[in-house]
Amino acid sequence: MSELRSPEYVQLSTAAAITLGLVPGKMYRTECTHCLNLLVTYPEGCRANCAYCGLARHREEGRDYAERNFIRVDWPTLSYDEVIARVKAGEDKGQFQRMCISMITHPDSDEDTRILLKKWVHELPHIPVSILSNPTTMEKSDLLQLKELGADIFTIALDAVTPEIFERTRGKTVDSPHRWDRYWQAIEWAAEVFGPERFGVHLISGMGETEREMLAICQRIRDLGGHNHLFAFFPERGSLMEDWPACDMAQWRRVQLARYIIDYGGGNVSQMHFDEHGCLTDFGLPQADVEHLLQSGTPFRTSGCPGTEEDVSACNRPYGDSKPSDILSYPFKLDADDLILVRQQIQE
Ligand code: SF4
Repeated sequence: MSELRSPEYVQLSTAAAITLGLVPGKMYRTECTHCLNLLVTYPEGCRANCAYCGLARHREEGRDYAERNFIRVDWPTLSYDEVIARVKAGEDKGQFQRMCISMITHPDSDEDTRILLKKWVHELPHIPVSILSNPTTMEKSDLLQLKELGADIFTIALDAVTPEIFERTRGKTVDSPHRWDRYWQAIEWAAEVFGPERFGVHLISGMGETEREMLAICQRIRDLGGHNHLFAFFPERGSLMEDWPACDMAQWRRVQLARYIIDYGGGNVSQMHFDEHGCLTDFGLPQADVEHLLQSGTPFRTSGCPGTEEDVSACNRPYGDSKPSDILSYPFKLDADDLILVRQQIQE
């Protein structure tokens, strides 16, 4: 079993490793990612047990933790100093517009995240840092400290949008330590400490919630000043939910467009209409505005922390929630054929 651990070592997404030239390979229709996604790493692994996650404790005990996959892709391990040296040497060819540290449920994760952040801000202050937090182990003072150390955006992976789904996928039911109320407490702290436009929430579409429930949460986050980062549920191999169906395509496309309208389009869930099953039937905007958004394709791109453009995520997570043959979150600007396809999918 590998003994490599943070803060000396980190794992990085395959897309980031390809962008840095560390791993040979090509990504379908995209050269690079604009976000250097890092994950703290420990041989003991994550102590939580979320039903949909490739890093969860229940998975293949005995298998090297660092070899497990997370959001569909492998995360190679590298020394943090080497990561910094390579970015400083320009091996990303100037592509990285953001760096992100993902925490996990581990007793050292809070302190190591601070060490990693401090070093980054010192060495590469021009590349802003997002913290993908672990509210289960954090207090408000941790948020204050991260802000003081220079974190740019603070994000909470709520993932499940109702207390029932949260409990079933991340709570006591699956012997996992996360609690709905604690996550909301962290969201409120984030709104207070980091402020408007400087915090975000990850949400997974397709875990049994209705579109109305999903969009009500998006609105709640927007009203607090934050942004919503959507992920389509994908049955991660070896996870407790590996037999669940992937998120329905038409549902996903509607939710993507409506989330964009809430986050950037000036719309509101209270103006949207839903049928008796909670499916979206009207986006609550004039048809010409909906048409304009459909034509831009932007709502269907990966959502996440921004880079140079406010409504386009630097963090494009290529193929993090789907296969390249059937793209759910577009990691690049949609072309004319993509736009035709998305229109068909949203009407299915
Ligand atoms: S959207 Fe991307 S950069 Fe932002 S917190 Fe999530 S993983 Fe990190």
